[in-house]
Amino acid sequence: MHDALDASTFGVLPDWMLRRRESLALVHEGASRTMRVRILRGAHEVGGNCVEVEHDGARVILDLGWPLTVEHDVDLPLPSVTGLANDDDPSLLGIVLTHPHFDHYGLLAKMPRSVRVYMGEAASRILREGAFFTPTGIDITPAGFLRHRHSLSLGPFEITAYLNDHSAFDAYSLLVEAGGRKLFYTGDLRAHGRKASLFEELVRRPPAGVNVLLMEGTHIRQDADGTERGPTEQGVEEACIETCRTAPGMVLAMYSPQNIDRLVTLYRATIRAERMSPDFGKRRILDQPSLFPYEACWSWSPRRELRLHPWLSLSSSISGP
Ligand SMILES: [Zn+2]
Repeated sequence: MHDALDASTFGVLPDWMLRRRESLALVHEGASRTMRVRILRGAHEVGGNCVEVEHDGARVILDLGWPLTVEHDVDLPLPSVTGLANDDDPSLLGIVLTHPHFDHYGLLAKMPRSVRVYMGEAASRILREGAFFTPTGIDITPAGFLRHRHSLSLGPFEITAYLNDHSAFDAYSLLVEAGGRKLFYTGDLRAHGRKASLFEELVRRPPAGVNVLLMEGTHIRQDADGTERGPTEQGVEEACIETCRTAPGMVLAMYSPQNIDRLVTLYRATIRAERMSPDFGKRRILDQPSLFPYEACWSWSPRRELRLHPWLSLSSSISGP
């Protein structure tokens, strides 16, 4: 933590900070009102995010990702954070993961199991059930769970989670408060998925008084003029309907099975294209819930009725967009 900057002087990271190769620190003067932030990875590449936040001697790590540019069989060292490799420094209070994408949690397998990890409950179940298929097979037992607009207290830190629209299920932004200062770390987020209303809610009701914003910019390009738009999830659904209607034979889909939004898109598309009737689809799920890849998507009620996660919206407005 070399550079001392008054965090109150800016709301977003200026260009020169993003170009720097070394660590960054944002410091507010005065020992009792200082929050220091160190970006260990993720400022110069997509993914591999790791941010260390310190206040009054206590520290938390936000994300511990594997860079997308590094092959999975490389012996990648942990970021240089005191206590991270051996859990031998009590000032390190834990790791808070924004979402279950490998570029945000991939280095966790190198950590001692004793390090406390915090993340979404559904996200942790997805990682557990997908462990056999993921590069590191990580199975985490979190010390606590993130919940939309609820706070966790870790030592001097108050961490409030904001559920996001993202291709990862159960993804969050994090508001970190300590010593009267506020850092907002967006994690990955978007506004064109099935949960776009979450982004709109964030814009409509953002956290107040944020001193510093750390924002993901996966698709920000130097030569972009702001007009470039990728397909929305709704657009993907319409394209899948067209494929389902025009393909003469069986339709096969290949996509990340952890992308629950896409699963819903394909489900809706097959019904709207009359490849599958809603009753048949529901009956298949009721008969065989394992068709849905993760328990995060469904649960049994005390009366043994299948409950689908509300985000899946399988029964509502299935006949149209
Ligand atoms: Zn992500």
